[in-house]
Amino acid sequence: MSFINFEILATSIVILCRVVIISLERLFPYNAHQSLLRKGFWNDLGMYTLVQSFVLSQIIFGFAYWLDGITELSSYGLLSSWPIWGQVLLSLVVHDFYIYWFHRWQHHNRYLWRTHEAHHSTEDVDWLSGPRSHSLEILINQTVEFAPLILLGCAPETIAIKGMLDAVWGMYIHSNINIRSGVLQYVINGPEMHRWHHAIDHEAHNMNFGTKFAIWDWIFGTAFFPSGRKPVGYGLGDENFPENYFKQHAWAFRRFRKK
Ligand SMILES: [Zn+2]
Ligand SMILES: [Zn+2]
Repeated sequence: MSFINFEILATSIVILCRVVIISLERLFPYNAHQSLLRKGFWNDLGMYTLVQSFVLSQIIFGFAYWLDGITELSSYGLLSSWPIWGQVLLSLVVHDFYIYWFHRWQHHNRYLWRTHEAHHSTEDVDWLSGPRSHSLEILINQTVEFAPLILLGCAPETIAIKGMLDAVWGMYIHSNINIRSGVLQYVINGPEMHRWHHAIDHEAHNMNFGTKFAIWDWIFGTAFFPSGRKPVGYGLGDENFPENYFKQHAWAFRRFRKK
């Protein structure tokens, strides 16, 4: 299969998963009051999911190929002999471990929190909440994710599969689906724990930092997984947070309040 066909296949899988997840949200909702066209829907779909992700991918991959052009690191083919599944698995585990700690740092450092609060601003957590992230956060995390794959000589298919997994997993962990994954929730992350990460409930603050794997939260003591109840609500609890994409971006650079 040519790489172009492979990319078309990966994009088709993302679109199919989108349709399946939206359908499951309607059939088995976790929070039944949430509607598909919830507050911020068009902003999240148009500006974050379509425009921002396209523009940032040009910048991130442009930078990674430029870096490879001056260092010629990929010519050593450090991972080239690995099978594609091995390259994907290595990147999945290593990048997810990195993102657990970076995410945790974002919640505890007031400057880094500015790059992350847009992601927490959604008041209805659903399939579309994942892409709502400040461009600085995406630039940092996806450069750390994809530049090493290019520099280590990974196959283009690895990059396409990783991008596909990011999109599908991001939709899944935010989805408004009433899932019971049982013991799997101790290893693989899902909406059962990640929806709590967005909760306004005090005891859920600064818990459940995992993205693809929940195991980091269980190992490092940040897992929050109560049974028999649901979050009171989601979001920042800050009515001043703007609704417009550009204003949300500018909001990160507002002055810090004097204590
Ligand atoms: Zn967070
Ligand atoms: Zn999230």
